[in-house]
Amino acid sequence: MAEQAKLQVSDEVAITIEGMNKWFGTFHVLRDINLYVNRGERIVIAGPSGSGKSTLIRCINALEEHQKGRIEVDGTVLSSDIKNIDKIRSEVGMVFQHFNLFPHLTILENCTLAPIWVRKTPKREAEEIAMHFLEKVKIPEQADKYPGQLSGGQQQRVAIARSLCMKPRIMLFDEPTSALDPEMIKEVLDTMVSLAEDGMTMLCVTHEMGFARQVAHRVIFMDQGQIVEQNEPEEFFNNPQSERTKLFLSQIL
Ligand code: ADP
Ligand code: MG
Repeated sequence: MAEQAKLQVSDEVAITIEGMNKWFGTFHVLRDINLYVNRGERIVIAGPSGSGKSTLIRCINALEEHQKGRIEVDGTVLSSDIKNIDKIRSEVGMVFQHFNLFPHLTILENCTLAPIWVRKTPKREAEEIAMHFLEKVKIPEQADKYPGQLSGGQQQRVAIARSLCMKPRIMLFDEPTSALDPEMIKEVLDTMVSLAEDGMTMLCVTHEMGFARQVAHRVIFMDQGQIVEQNEPEEFFNNPQSERTKLFLSQIL
């Protein structure tokens, strides 16, 4: 494993996390996290509820502040400097369990809002980009509707398209399908698979183990704020090493 980690520290490294620790007050939520993510690499993060998965990925785009250790994204070291935070956020897209679309804006407007106001993209160009990504997530015909008129699966695909409109180099997903009805999960996973095929660097917190097998280069298992184990999917599922991983897998598979 040390060898694999070393191999990943190269010119092509997209995210470096070294010796990272985070506390909520006195609660030590993330402990000595070391993680190297290569450009184009796809990582699935699994682990029991409360193990720190969301907090970890939220630290990467400074939605949560870490207290110790180093996070570097695309050559920018995450510090309290707002310029660095802005730069990192402009390169990192994030999709949450709850899609948080603006209910009073159309699908198209949801997708063009940040490009127009944050990136200063001209409106017409932002709309072209938005339509391109709505086509990518296979709902261009919904562009003029409002979020409330769409199914949960469609809304989550809009959330993914909205994120892509900012042209991120890295995408973070935090349980994007866990709030969806079963029949809608596949359409969202299919969208994520198609992003994977485009070579997007992805970190996905998910319990969709079929997805992990299909697209992940690596599965990371977290428990109690630590990375307990990581391996390529087949090894991870067929030959888990730690007792905690075995227990977790026996509960979800
Ligand atoms: P996971 O995503 O793996 O379920 P989280 O990262 O959401 O876990 O949470 C890890 C732990 O940190 C949990 O015990 C949770 O209750 C706690 N936690 C999360 N957010 C906060 C917060 N803002 N303040 C205090 N504790 C928090
Ligand atoms: Mg979570």
